[in-house]
Amino acid sequence: MSKPVYRRILLKVSGEGLMGDADYGIDPAVSRRLAREIGEVRELGVEVALVVGGGNIFRGAGLAAAGMDRVTADHMGMLATVMNALALQDALEHAGVFTRVMSAIKINQVCEDYIRRRAVRHLEKKRVVIFAAGTGNPFFTTDSAASLRAVEVDADIMIKATKVDGVYSADPAHDAGASRYRRLTYDQVLDQRLSVMDATAIVLCRDQGLPIQVFDMTRPGALMDLVLGADVGTIVER
Ligand code: UDP
Repeated sequence: MSKPVYRRILLKVSGEGLMGDADYGIDPAVSRRLAREIGEVRELGVEVALVVGGGNIFRGAGLAAAGMDRVTADHMGMLATVMNALALQDALEHAGVFTRVMSAIKINQVCEDYIRRRAVRHLEKKRVVIFAAGTGNPFFTTDSAASLRAVEVDADIMIKATKVDGVYSADPAHDAGASRYRRLTYDQVLDQRLSVMDATAIVLCRDQGLPIQVFDMTRPGALMDLVLGADVGTIVER
C-alpha cells in the first residue's frame, strides 16, 4: 500500500462545499462522501483535523450588509459553523470514524471547548477533530481559523477544499486561456490578489511557514491522491 506524505493535516471545508448543488444548507450525499474519504485517509494513518465554514447558512458580512450589527452577525456566522460541524461529526460517525467537535465559543452541552493540548491529544488518539466557531472572534473568517488551528496543532499542511482543482491565472469558467498554477509563493498570492484565502489567513501561513494546498473536493478520490503526494491542485509555500 502507498504511504502518505503527511503525518497530520488540517482540512478546511467551506459551508458552500457542504451545500453541493443546493443554494442553502447541507447536502447529505456530499457530507457522506466527504466523511468516507476522510475516513479512508485516517485509515492510512494520517491524523486529521477539520475546520468547517458556515457560509451555507449565515455569513456575517452578508447579514451586516442587510443592516444587522456586524458583531451580532458574526456571532450568527460562527454558530452556523457549529451546526455544520455537528452534521459532519454525524456523517463521520456513520462512516465509523471517531470524532470530537471542539468549539471556540463555549457551548458545552453540545460539544467540547477548544483547548489546544486536548485537541492534540485527540489527534494522537487518532480521533478526527472538528474545530467549530472559527477563531471565536468577529471580523475573522474560517480560513483564518483554519490557518491558526493548523499552526497551533502543528499540522504539516493546511488543505483547502474548493470546487476547482487549484488556483488559476483567470476564472476558468469564463476564460478558456486560464491555466492552473502548480505552485505559488505566499507573496505571489498576496501581490496578485489571487483568490486563495483572505490576506489575514495567508499572512499567518507565510509568517509560520505553513504550506497551503488548494484542491477540488468535488472530485472523488482527490483527497487521497493529495495525501499520497500526487500533483493535484496548487500548493502555496515559501
Ligand atoms: N466568523 C467569525 N469569526 C471567525 C470565523 C467565522 O466571525 O473566526 C463568522 C463570519 O461571520 C463568517 C461566518 O462565521 O462569515 C462563516 O464563516 P466563513 O464565511 O468563513 O465560512 P465559509 O465561507 O468557509 O463557508
